Amino acid sequence: LFEAVELAPRDPILGLNEQYNTDTHTHKVNLGVGVYYDDDGRIPLLKAVRKAELARVEAAAPRGYLPIEGLASYNNGVQTLLLGADSPLIAEGRVLTAQALGGTGALKIGADFLKQLLPQSKVVISNPSWENHRALFERANFTVETYPYYDAATHGLDFNAMLAALESLPAKTIVVLHACCHNPTGVDPSIEQWQQIAQAVKQADLVPFLDIAYQGFGDGLTEDAAVVRLFANLGIAMLISSSFSKSFSLYGERVGALTLIAGSQDEKSRVLSQLKRVIRTNYSNPPTHSGTVVSSVLNTPELYALWTEELAEMRNRIRAMRQQLVDNLKANGVKQNFDFVLAQRGMFSYSGLTADQVEKLRTDHGIYAVSSGRICVAALNSKNIDYVAQAIAKVLG
Ligand code: PMP
Repeated sequence: LFEAVELAPRDPILGLNEQYNTDTHTHKVNLGVGVYYDDDGRIPLLKAVRKAELARVEAAAPRGYLPIEGLASYNNGVQTLLLGADSPLIAEGRVLTAQALGGTGALKIGADFLKQLLPQSKVVISNPSWENHRALFERANFTVETYPYYDAATHGLDFNAMLAALESLPAKTIVVLHACCHNPTGVDPSIEQWQQIAQAVKQADLVPFLDIAYQGFGDGLTEDAAVVRLFANLGIAMLISSSFSKSFSLYGERVGALTLIAGSQDEKSRVLSQLKRVIRTNYSNPPTHSGTVVSSVLNTPELYALWTEELAEMRNRIRAMRQQLVDNLKANGVKQNFDFVLAQRGMFSYSGLTADQVEKLRTDHGIYAVSSGRICVAALNSKNIDYVAQAIAKVLG
């Protein structure tokens, strides 16, 4: 039966981890990952999460099935995070949220639903984008193309080209946009640029699919939702995939959500009925543990306050690492200007290192980055930053 099965290529980033694990350099550093590490190089278990988990275990609640669309209190919490507690759209009953298996799960159920709704539409993603965007939408049988995004010459956004490309797309093209902390570049449009993007999306009658996997890692929970609220205020029908993998440091628990903004309450009910069919035939219903834990953090003021503090700590640590990297590169005699690293947001930086330089970092120094030059700033810490800066200075040398 399986004789003719061909070996699929390794996942480029997870493949890098496997290589890292067998590397024998004493000071090896893995900057290839998409995970937040604390200053001791560990994935934190947030105090807010631990408290919610202990309370859950203590309550010894039965583990029946959740509704197909997940836990209502969780879904409501997600809507508030995205649109604000005073959102008229929520009050009008036009917002639909389904708990999903991480951001990936949210994108997948959104993609399957869209394929049913818009079988002729194409999907466009930024160039570059998160590795899995293309694969995921192609697997859902869409043709996937790209719109210009990153400008290597300025280490910034190719805004005019991006806008022109969006303006020329056929109506009902699905546009995947990173609502904050772009992965992999760390380069985000300014809010003024977002206003123009949203207008273009509206005018060309495109279907935005906002991917928000790093809410809280840019400027703060509310600030990072500004783009979602901007689109919502313009009355644009859209889909939003949220991931809490990073913001709750719950990678393996698969916590995310798909949110859709419909034109009316009635429209929402019909959409929900269809979305439930997609979910039912994929995985039936989402898990109880992660949903309950995140829901209690979102809905308990004391835990919410603790969470926002811990999130701020993560955000500020990443910022400090950006600054130290730039300072240390200068201190190590690097002449090129790396200040663009300070303007980038979220966990990643497109460092500008070439594939050859990345290769040299790995072979000579045991430092792992993605061949595109993407580094995870959140994997730098006070103990490895000098080593990394010295190594980069050497490969640039
Ligand atoms: N979208 C983007 C832009 C991401 O970077 C990620 C995670 N790396 C995801 C979605 C998927 O998130 P999750 O791990 O929750 O599935």
